[in-house]
Amino acid sequence: MIYSHETCLDDKLAFAKNFSTLETISNKFSDERIIQEVADKRLVVNPPYPYLTENELDTIYNLPFTRLPHPKYIKKGAIPAYEMIKFSINTHRGCFGGCSFCTIAAHQGKFISSRSEASILNEVKILTEMSDFKGHISDLGGPSANMYRMKGKDESVCAKCSRYSCIYPKVCVNLNASHEAMNKLYQKVRESAGVKMVTIGSGIRYDLFDYSKRDVREYIENLIRYHVSGRLKVAPEHTEDDVLVMMRKPSFSLFDEFYRVFMSENKKAGKNQQLIPYFISSHPASEIKHMQNLANRLKSIGLRPEQVQDFTPTPMTLSNVIFYTGIDPYTLKPIFTARNKEEKLQQKENFFWYKKNESNNTGYKRNESQANVKKFTGRKGK
Ligand code: SF4
Repeated sequence: MIYSHETCLDDKLAFAKNFSTLETISNKFSDERIIQEVADKRLVVNPPYPYLTENELDTIYNLPFTRLPHPKYIKKGAIPAYEMIKFSINTHRGCFGGCSFCTIAAHQGKFISSRSEASILNEVKILTEMSDFKGHISDLGGPSANMYRMKGKDESVCAKCSRYSCIYPKVCVNLNASHEAMNKLYQKVRESAGVKMVTIGSGIRYDLFDYSKRDVREYIENLIRYHVSGRLKVAPEHTEDDVLVMMRKPSFSLFDEFYRVFMSENKKAGKNQQLIPYFISSHPASEIKHMQNLANRLKSIGLRPEQVQDFTPTPMTLSNVIFYTGIDPYTLKPIFTARNKEEKLQQKENFFWYKKNESNNTGYKRNESQANVKKFTGRKGK
């Protein structure tokens, strides 16, 4: 039994506690049934189905999909989202990253279900036979590209585990994080008849890289040599530990390390590719001082971020619950979150450190900042 709907309406603490119960139960192999009273009725959340086996997932992917948008869109011209995924292939479902702001674990689960090589290669063949396929597979991935085939070494240990992430705060000793299966798969796909290029469009988790391992070095080498479309997306999300802890993301030093490896492998491959890091401002625990530090840190390495977003609370996530309740549901400690538009805009502006002409507290040109606040809020900036 979790706190009733009515209790939660009156008591944010009860709502926060409900979230920690739900997240903990949903991250383990569990047959627990969750019940919540709502008025004079009871809401029953049944346990999820077990995660799909390779055979079951292959059966789904072997169904005769048309690979086309719904017919109702036929006369509506090109659909940008469809164009992006038209020639991409899913290799697996699930994500064990456990990032606080992301709902993927709530949709697909923490445990990875992977397709067989044969099923993926069969889809490659189907793609190459499509009349408008020009030879470029735009993605071979999943929620995180490099989790294909990863799972616990001893699944009986996983069966008793309730960690929300297999890699945060540290990579679990029971996780088999070998990249060997991906090395073989990428090679087979890029050598398939009719395929000229395969790029990885899904995000790469560099916190899974143990550079002492041969399979990891080989993965990075092949990735950079054959599978980057000029720009590789990664998601450090912030530079400051206070915020990264709340995001359940690793230290920025891991990004620094990967950045160096990426540049050096690029050089070896004779390529001039870019690493595109994603960042979020105004996430719970992010204060203006953290964003100023972020700007300074990015400036020190000459990084000009393009892919940035200001935090938007997403239902079913830890970050959303912190945003709404103002507390961490696990520690029950209060957490600061920037809420008004002025604060949020000031945080976001720090990403664009390279645009500043004169300093102020936020590190930006005062007049520009005021003008932006006015444009954004319809009010005059402070
Ligand atoms: S035991 Fe380790 S690998 Fe298995 S589910 Fe838990 S954290 Fe993940």
